[in-house]
Amino acid sequence: LLQLYGPLNFLGSVYSGIRTALVDLEHMMGLVDESIEVADPAHPLPIATRLADAGPAEVEFRNVHFSYRPEREILHGVSFVAAPGSKVAIVGTTGAGKSTISRLLFRFYDVSSGSVRLDGHDVRDYRQADLRAAIGVVPQDTVLFNDTIGYNIAYGRLGATQEEVEQAARLAQIHDFILSLPEGYATQVGERGLKLSGGEKQRVAIARTILKDPRVLVLDEATSALDTHTEQEIQAALKTVSARRTTLVIAHRLSTIVDADEILVMEHGQVVERGTHEALLAAQGRYAGMWAAQGGEAATEG
Ligand code: ATP
Repeated sequence: LLQLYGPLNFLGSVYSGIRTALVDLEHMMGLVDESIEVADPAHPLPIATRLADAGPAEVEFRNVHFSYRPEREILHGVSFVAAPGSKVAIVGTTGAGKSTISRLLFRFYDVSSGSVRLDGHDVRDYRQADLRAAIGVVPQDTVLFNDTIGYNIAYGRLGATQEEVEQAARLAQIHDFILSLPEGYATQVGERGLKLSGGEKQRVAIARTILKDPRVLVLDEATSALDTHTEQEIQAALKTVSARRTTLVIAHRLSTIVDADEILVMEHGQVVERGTHEALLAAQGRYAGMWAAQGGEAATEG
């Protein structure tokens, strides 16, 4: 029995690690208290999850229809392709369906019709755990564990070395801040420890994601504005994490997406305009109106 205890104990901690990961992700995606009803396929396709192993993935939404409740369709035929390594931005009014798109990509729900595809295959063909390992998210508001700041970063890839953790922190521009803390990487953070500012938490999330090294990145931009200096640091860190990675940005400030390969303008569950920043400005439609409303050129300088 004693011989069995070791491995069982190990399995137990792996299991609880997976549960924590799922709970955390659900929390980040605003899905707490939602019942999850998707199932793994009987014969899942293998998929590489890390950028270092397989490069960026292709993401496609193909005529996706979706409803949370049968009586009300939320997405009415959404289609787009994010080529490997490209950046696609989603903008639009509140309730248009932007977050729903990221939830479907993670397969928190299944589509009613059409398909969500990763590397040319329906996400329903993969194991959920693999799918979620292949996609990283930097959420609007990061949940910190009541643990050390080092653990909070290492959580991106449990098993990473201290050196890898510090390298990720450097790239996320939070290493120097961590060194200035009383106990450095061993400083306790979270509700029962040191409280971090919104910008610091976001950089922890970025460091975590750099360490996770996913092939696809979802950035859920914060609605609340940070001060200009913090904002610039965050933007620089985000550039690092999204470089070479297929990136989906749910954007609120248009100044952060002028360089996107494609911008999708959503309204009431449909893509009503699409194109690059320049093309959309020239079209003088809804996007151009939003741009003017946000202060036009001035927005890029703020
Ligand atoms: P915002 O910019 O305000 O975050 P959004 O474009 O991300 O909005 P979604 O969160 O995708 O919008 O929501 C799209 C629609 O789906 C909204 O009308 C919303 O009320 C509805 N909705 C979202 N989550 C659920 C849910 N769990 N059950 C039922 N309806 C939902």
